[in-house]
Amino acid sequence: MKFTIKLCLCCAALFSVCGCAAKEPAPLHTPTWDITAHTTAVSTTTITTQSAQATTIRAARKVAIDAGHQARGNNELEPVGPGATESKAKVSSGTQGVSTGVPEYRLTLDVSKKLRDILLSRGYEVFMIRESHDMNISNRERAQLADQAGADILVRVHANGSENPEDNGLMMVAPTPNSPFVPQLYRSSRRLADDILAEMLKITGARDKGVWETDTMSGINWSSIPVVLVEMGYMSNPAEDERMQQAAYQEKLAEGMANGIDRFFE
Ligand SMILES: [Zn+2]
Repeated sequence: MKFTIKLCLCCAALFSVCGCAAKEPAPLHTPTWDITAHTTAVSTTTITTQSAQATTIRAARKVAIDAGHQARGNNELEPVGPGATESKAKVSSGTQGVSTGVPEYRLTLDVSKKLRDILLSRGYEVFMIRESHDMNISNRERAQLADQAGADILVRVHANGSENPEDNGLMMVAPTPNSPFVPQLYRSSRRLADDILAEMLKITGARDKGVWETDTMSGINWSSIPVVLVEMGYMSNPAEDERMQQAAYQEKLAEGMANGIDRFFE
């Protein structure tokens, strides 16, 4: 992961600071689950009731999805957390596929949109931090937007990079128990990370790279709600890079995340 950070910072340094568009959070969506589609002649009442209850529970939950990065990084600095003396770039430009050449910000939004659609179909409310590439939103602002939207959790969607092309698999990033910024979010964020990791591993069959606990991530440190950063795979691994560009695999990544979110709220 140290390699990843270096890589991201290096990439960020290559891009000029971007003016881009003002932040325009997407409007909230209304769930459109058709309960009647799930009913049968035999037990219509029971199934309808159960479905309605499930929808009601989920409808009370709002998930903020942050598709990592944007078309251009922003090298201006911001504190890594509330009260921090250390600063980091507002948002790096991310990594890119070693085989496909696809930039991370495109992959993260593609999968984030799939995750949005699955969550909406299950009755959640969803707040998208961004739905286009030409944005200029810092990691601190992303965390704060999620809070302002009244979200219950923040899921940050990213992909990994490594100097070792053989590195592959799924990794979650969460704060440490001794975080100077969000110690109160440790247990819930760690549980969210564990739940999403377990469900993503189950559906994708990807390698388990575990949960990395760190207090170096601005987008985590500025959060006021349970937060996890999902590293969906290594864009520096040719096979995994190519797999992450397949629509069917992206669907699995999104469904795994949604199943993990379901498990978290159970
Ligand atoms: Zn990233």
